[in-house]
Amino acid sequence: MDNAPGPRHYAAMTDTLIIGGGLAGTAAALWLADLGRSSIIVEARARLGGRAHSRAWGNSGGPVEYGGGWIRADHAEMIGLTKRLGIGLVPRADIIGHSYFRDGTWQANPAEDMAQYEAGIATLLTDAAQMNDDTPTARAIHGMTLRAYLDHRGFPASVVREIMAWWAISGSGAPDLIGANEYVTAKLAKGLMVKVEELAFTAETGVASIAQQAVAASGAETILGDAVERLEDCGSHVRATLGSGRVVEAATALVALPINALAQIRFLPALSPAQDNLRRRGHEGRALKLLIRAKGPKPGHLATGETLGIRWIFADRSLPDGSTLLIAFGLRDETGEPDPAMVATVLAAAFPDADLLGFDWHDWVNDPFARGTWVGATLASLPDFAAEHWGRRGRIAFAGSDLSSAEQGWMEGALLTARAAAAALQTRLNQNP
Ligand SMILES: Cc1cc2nc3c(=O)[nH]c(=O)nc-3n(C[C@H](O)[C@H](O)[C@H](O)COP(=O)(O)OP(=O)(O)OC[C@H]3O[C@@H](n4cnc5c(N)ncnc54)[C@H](O)[C@@H]3O)c2cc1C
Repeated sequence: MDNAPGPRHYAAMTDTLIIGGGLAGTAAALWLADLGRSSIIVEARARLGGRAHSRAWGNSGGPVEYGGGWIRADHAEMIGLTKRLGIGLVPRADIIGHSYFRDGTWQANPAEDMAQYEAGIATLLTDAAQMNDDTPTARAIHGMTLRAYLDHRGFPASVVREIMAWWAISGSGAPDLIGANEYVTAKLAKGLMVKVEELAFTAETGVASIAQQAVAASGAETILGDAVERLEDCGSHVRATLGSGRVVEAATALVALPINALAQIRFLPALSPAQDNLRRRGHEGRALKLLIRAKGPKPGHLATGETLGIRWIFADRSLPDGSTLLIAFGLRDETGEPDPAMVATVLAAAFPDADLLGFDWHDWVNDPFARGTWVGATLASLPDFAAEHWGRRGRIAFAGSDLSSAEQGWMEGALLTARAAAAALQTRLNQNP
């Protein structure tokens, strides 16, 4: 790692300058190395991993995930990479119960009127079952925001509350801007719990260790704590200017950033109109992930509902001191900044027998190098995400989970785009000069 201050010019031409040391950038470094290519990673933060942010919290006895954490069983790139790097996978606690909360109180049932609730959920699941088909219903829902879908179906408050609870871990932002199909997917037809059942594993040493070990295995050079401010495709090579004034040159570049961080970089030549639209408008993913330590809750218990904007709480695992780590989600625009009184109220509503020991969170929305959580694509901006707009142009390629067409928003999406970008850069590097 090179953290020496002062300007520096890289005389020997590195094959690829990777901007962003998240999972996309670091996996790309490894896969470029597999192809015989050298890379240098420039990362704005003082750590690798980006939105994969694992660190110990108090006496947690191991890493806690402040950002992305769960790996699905069908996430083949994530599972393959952890295996290659010798990182173990830990299964999620079995789901042992589901209760509800609303208006600050615990509830055994999601609704006062269960017949009305069950009819609404049946409609939701019937709609979901069609989402991969070309039916008028599916076509209509694909064109609706979540808010428009809820209004269209006229669901009772209990169904809206339950959908919004799951929205906090799927759509992740403004329901009047983001498409209903972030939550209403064909998979949902199996039942509401499928959205937690699919969260199969976490990484034993934390997901950030995937990024760290990928870089170590790649042999890539790393510059930490210095943000790229300008990136130029000079025709014969690329040149980046960093916040410190350093200049880094390479034969090609990979931009592996959250789309909400693109606005901080000046691109020469300018980005295409679709890319520039996304760069200026960004995405709306604004979830809050709240970590709570409490005595009492049994791992595997889920609570959904609404109190002070918190809508979804899972008792994740036991900690070495016998307490439980709970993971809660809400939307930042509804929760505001969590404080002790708020967390105590929410915990008392969802797990009335629990004793609150502490809480923590990372403010992704105001983090200058993320400016959001996982991607929340607005319906209006969907065309600008199309893969055709984000392929390699000249010497510059793009990657990152925000741009993935197959697994958008997931860590798997970061890896899928990284693999494609590494191949595209290799094609360009093989065309020298
Ligand atoms: C709270 C939360 C919960 C999540 N839960 C899950 C989950 O359970 N499962 C899942 O699969 N996914 C989850 N995600 C999403 C997942 O974490 C991300 O999709 C994935 O980590 C993104 O990887 P990336 O490499 O594309 O981007 P990032 O991780 O954002 O990496 C981009 C890097 O670029 C750096 N950077 C920014 N600007 C500059 C600059 N100008 N110059 C240099 N470097 C710069 C950033 O510091 C960052 O390190 C969650 C995300 C959050 C925030």
